[in-house]
Amino acid sequence: MSHNHNHPGFVVWMTGLSGAGKTTIALILEKELRQRNVKIERLDGDVVRQSLTRDLGFSKEDRDKNIERVAFVAKLLSRNGVGCICSFISPYQAVRDQVRAETTNFLEVFIDAPLEVVIDRDVKGMYKKAIAGEIPNFTGISDPFEAPSRPDIHIRTDLHTPDACAQQILAHLEQIGYIPAR
Ligand code: ADP
Repeated sequence: MSHNHNHPGFVVWMTGLSGAGKTTIALILEKELRQRNVKIERLDGDVVRQSLTRDLGFSKEDRDKNIERVAFVAKLLSRNGVGCICSFISPYQAVRDQVRAETTNFLEVFIDAPLEVVIDRDVKGMYKKAIAGEIPNFTGISDPFEAPSRPDIHIRTDLHTPDACAQQILAHLEQIGYIPAR
């Protein structure tokens, strides 16, 4: 008979600038955790904004509502043994603290790359537009980003490969017993 460890639900909350690497790392984590038979769901900003919160924009009020709804979903999942991989810019510390308070086994993961690096990457061509003034309320350019002052995990994506970044998060999850060791 195989081992039947009971692992808890959790929330890996990835916060960071657009283009910092949240979605890239989330996809690697999702694949790796499924291979280990960990029950997970991935909640991604771009995906959620086309479904659950498609009625919302990027004003402070709408950003808060966006995260409020996602937090509700993460609360239901995490308390029922599901690991949630969440990738949201989520620029406000108070809002991230609120998600922590509502959910089970919340980890604030700072997906960090300097602004000049994400501008240089410009994955979706949006920094160019934001700098030209064509996109209002763009985080890092014309809207604030409150970097976590004490994240549970701090990942520098300008210094490590995506795989190495995902491994840092996996190692932390193993170490605190949220997932089985390989
Ligand atoms: P976000 O979801 O934070 O907006 P994306 O994952 O969509 O960011 O884009 C990040 C971009 O940076 C991708 O093009 C990815 O290939 C690149 N990149 C370079 N190094 C890393 C790293 N260590 N982790 C994640 N992405 C990285």
